[in-house]
Amino acid sequence: MASERLYHDDPYTTSFRARIAASGEHAGRPAVELEATCFYPEGGGQLGDRGTLGGARVVDVQVTEEGRIWHVLDGADAPSGEVDAELDWARRFDHMQQHTGQHVLSAAFERLVDAPTLSSTLGEERSVIEVALAGADWQLVGRVEEAANRVVWEDRPVALHWVEPEDVGRFQLRKAPAVAGRIRVVEIPDWDASACGGTHVRRSGEVGSIKVIRWEKVRGNVRFEFLCGARALHDHAWRTEALVEAARRRTLKDRDVIAQLERAAAERDELRKGLAALTARLIETEARERVGVPPQGVAGFDARRPREEVRLLALKSLEAGAPWVALGAAGPDPCLMVGRAKPLAADLRTLLPGLLERAQGKGGGSPDLVQVAALDGGKAEEAWRWAVEAVRQAVGES
Ligand SMILES: [Zn+2]
Repeated sequence: MASERLYHDDPYTTSFRARIAASGEHAGRPAVELEATCFYPEGGGQLGDRGTLGGARVVDVQVTEEGRIWHVLDGADAPSGEVDAELDWARRFDHMQQHTGQHVLSAAFERLVDAPTLSSTLGEERSVIEVALAGADWQLVGRVEEAANRVVWEDRPVALHWVEPEDVGRFQLRKAPAVAGRIRVVEIPDWDASACGGTHVRRSGEVGSIKVIRWEKVRGNVRFEFLCGARALHDHAWRTEALVEAARRRTLKDRDVIAQLERAAAERDELRKGLAALTARLIETEARERVGVPPQGVAGFDARRPREEVRLLALKSLEAGAPWVALGAAGPDPCLMVGRAKPLAADLRTLLPGLLERAQGKGGGSPDLVQVAALDGGKAEEAWRWAVEAVRQAVGES
């Protein structure tokens, strides 16, 4: 039998006497059904309640297609008979704020920019509405927020109506009802009327505030993430702290932080470019010195040298006339490279099995240059030692 839903007409009751109607399981966890319950089961984009039943903790509340509401328990002995029930009110009130705020915000999007809400999800930490809009910017969001919050400040009543199908026309519903038969209409006068089975605050002022914090385009619509009530305050708190601290540490005005970040990033990019050019010149000089006159093969292993530099040194050495190179580094990326001058015919890929076996890594390359990423610095060095002899043999030096 379907459980009676007391929260429909009174979402403010936090404790009640509960009569257990049935004990069973829901999705493999112990659960009980009550004759009548104040616990909201997950549905309509709103999460289920938590609380206690007798001594047992209610960790989830779910409703079946037949309307049976299962209070999922944390595994303790299932209560029976009549017990005291207590809702986690902080959690429920938070959901009521988010849910009512969602109605107000969705109506604002519809009234200001003619953009209907296609779906909504009220999560543990963040809530989202998907709105039929091509795009958004902070200015549009600001206008919508301003209008929505004005409805909050006006502290309008949030009225509940049970409406027979033939009377539904009395209300200008924002969205056609999803269920047939008698429906529950949640009305904020001169602002919004929605068919909804969720829990809401009794006056819009209790929503506290409504703040959109980000948005993204999805499926040709825009999905807005928003916070209401205490969530909005807590979000405001850490964002303010982050911005004010960032500005204070760099001795800036709050409003200059973004411009300063951009400047710093541009400067860093310029420095990186300059450093790369300088490194390339140094490596070219190093390559010429190592190759010498007449040109010799180049063997070298560094404790620390970025892979890109090892590669550049190998290429520049070959360019400077080295008949062969065998270079490596223990870190930061343990690696080695073996190359030979183009006119020589040896196919260095024949060295790969021997290199990979010693380096215990991955590698590949062309007939004139092979590269290997080693398991660690020790393996890289071991493979490199072997490579020096192997490449000399390959090019016919020994
Ligand atoms: Zn609702």
